[in-house]
Amino acid sequence: MITTMFARTIHRRFSFHHSSISLSNSLRGNNSHSPTNLLPREMSMETERIVDRLKSSGLLQTKGLIGGKWTDAYDGKTIEVNNPASGDVIASVACMGERETKDAISSAYDAFSHWSKLTANDRSSRLRNWYNLLLQHKEELGQLITLEQGKPLKEAIGEVGYGASFIEFFAEEAKRIYGDIIPSTLSDRRLFVLKQPVGVVAAITPWNFPLAMIARKVGPALACGCTVVIKPSELTPLTALAAAELALQSGIPPGVLNVVMGDAIKIGTALTESPQVRKITFTGSTAVGKKLMAGAADTVKKVSLELGGNAPCIVFDDADLEVAIKGSLATKFRNSGQTCVCANRILVQEGIYEKFTKAFSDAVQNLKVGNGLSEGVSQGPLINEAAVKKVESFVEDAVSKGAKLLLGGKRHSLGMSFYEPTVIGDVKNEMLIAQQEVFGPVAPVLRFKTEEEAIQIANDTNAGLAAYIFTNSIKRSWRVSEALEYGIVGVNEGLVSTEVAPFGGFKQSGLGREGSKYGMDDYLEIKYICMGNMG
Ligand code: ADP
Repeated sequence: MITTMFARTIHRRFSFHHSSISLSNSLRGNNSHSPTNLLPREMSMETERIVDRLKSSGLLQTKGLIGGKWTDAYDGKTIEVNNPASGDVIASVACMGERETKDAISSAYDAFSHWSKLTANDRSSRLRNWYNLLLQHKEELGQLITLEQGKPLKEAIGEVGYGASFIEFFAEEAKRIYGDIIPSTLSDRRLFVLKQPVGVVAAITPWNFPLAMIARKVGPALACGCTVVIKPSELTPLTALAAAELALQSGIPPGVLNVVMGDAIKIGTALTESPQVRKITFTGSTAVGKKLMAGAADTVKKVSLELGGNAPCIVFDDADLEVAIKGSLATKFRNSGQTCVCANRILVQEGIYEKFTKAFSDAVQNLKVGNGLSEGVSQGPLINEAAVKKVESFVEDAVSKGAKLLLGGKRHSLGMSFYEPTVIGDVKNEMLIAQQEVFGPVAPVLRFKTEEEAIQIANDTNAGLAAYIFTNSIKRSWRVSEALEYGIVGVNEGLVSTEVAPFGGFKQSGLGREGSKYGMDDYLEIKYICMGNMG
């Protein structure tokens, strides 16, 4: 999702209390054993009010979950979780490493024999309980997402509904793991195919969808009978921990779902090296995904990767302008541009270019920037200072090479990690901003002449996750959809993700699919049974 150059580690967490990048603040030792290790003195009133409510509802967990027990880091270390909109320290959570991860793997391994042998109905009903609980706590989970991730509350509550829908869908799919009977080549033999869970799954997730990225992985894993060790992003662990608390309440047995967070490299290494972990499922940057894939080679694990995109959004002369503006706006500016399916290049045909850029810029100008908890805000802050610096450098590179700023182009007057919604025209595909994911509220617009040229530009990248086209021609819709080297194509639509459809990429955007009936395959082994002497 974020390129190598800007891939962060927890050692580089921006500290809002000093206007510089702090190398040490986030990994400080903390031997305090206060129940939650919260630091209320550093919070604004608003954050404090929400945190208090979450605490009293039991949803603000700050320890890891190993074998059904909330567990501190063995050396007592903690890591701060910040609100990117205000800099408030929301909580300090356990900063774990290799030893805790090994124990979490053992718990998942031990729990597998029981969980995998439950009937599909039994697993299904516990998943459905979890789904119900997630929805019952939609508001609180939404607030937690906004607090630690920054997205507007409405979007955050939408993410809870979206995430929960995967748990519901896979609760249903649990009952449909069918095998096959193959017509035999010999009359005294019977040939069967069974589908069985792969075993312990490691799920490593990013910060941009703190709940949904977990639900998309854990839903099918548990439905198939696998057990999991989740490693959420250190930037947004609180939502993962709250979801885990609800999983416990829903009757998912101890050890089936474990959560560790802290030192990403140590945890990642322990997960990849363990022969007990049979599958890694990861959403995040292409650079880290490649490392995990290489790490998984030694123990020949199954690997699912949902990596970075570089989505083209192609607006043809024959598009309905209003539909194209609405769709492009939605796909570009959702989550302030911080999704891997966000339009990264808006390709506009020359006949409609002027009209489109004018109307699009007008629409972007109306987007309200602010704290995600405030009414009417549609653009929250970026996740941290490093993300803003990346956006700044991409914009600077484009402008220095001849692109034209049509709107915005600098940090927002609100300060912190807020960036102005920005439109840049006359972008060329060679510019950094068109080559890599900008992951921010910046819309680069490129001009093209012919359909062939648009397809060529669109496919001229190593990524292949999502693409969008806007046209009123049915023939062109098919032609271009088929020619695009992408796993997902939106035609006259900018928001395409749903639990019932397969999500995943071509080329270096990843391996495997999440959601839909295809999302089960990644968590299943196929076993062929040949029975002889049956004549
Ligand atoms: P992004 O830039 O979108 O955060 P990352 O790939 O850096 O993407 O992070 C995605 C997830 O991968 C996070 O949970 C992060 O902590 C984790 N991660 C980062 N580096 C490693 C690593 N070397 N091994 C395992 N997990 C890692």
